[in-house]
Amino acid sequence: MYDDNNIFAKIIRKEIPCKLVYEDEKVLFFNDINPKATIHILGVPKNSVINLREFITNSDKDTVKYFFDKTLEVIRNFGLDKAGYRLITNDGKNGNQEIPHFHIHILGGENLGGLR
Ligand code: AMP
Repeated sequence: MYDDNNIFAKIIRKEIPCKLVYEDEKVLFFNDINPKATIHILGVPKNSVINLREFITNSDKDTVKYFFDKTLEVIRNFGLDKAGYRLITNDGKNGNQEIPHFHIHILGGENLGGLR
């Protein structure tokens, strides 16, 4: 079950600050507090969903498309479409998901190396 007190829910409700990249009524993009690359942005839909599976299953198609369209907009705005980038979403125990609100990591700004 979705936990309303997770950190990203608090950031969405403005109870915790973030370094804002882009926000509107449906989505929020902000800098990761512990960046793993020169550019490390987190993107969240404002729906109360825990992971990608829930986001796709519980949201209408427009909401899903909107989130990924905005993700591409952020990618373009940082020039990552030209230089390249990596998208990650972690899910569950083996994915080491820390925060139980669906989010994607947008990583770039340098060569990220191979996946281990
Ligand atoms: P995940 O393992 O996919 O759940 O990743 C959670 C990410 O959230 C990690 O990369 C953390 O560095 C990041 N994080 C945790 N707390 C904050 C915060 N208050 N503001 C920004 N990023 C955060």
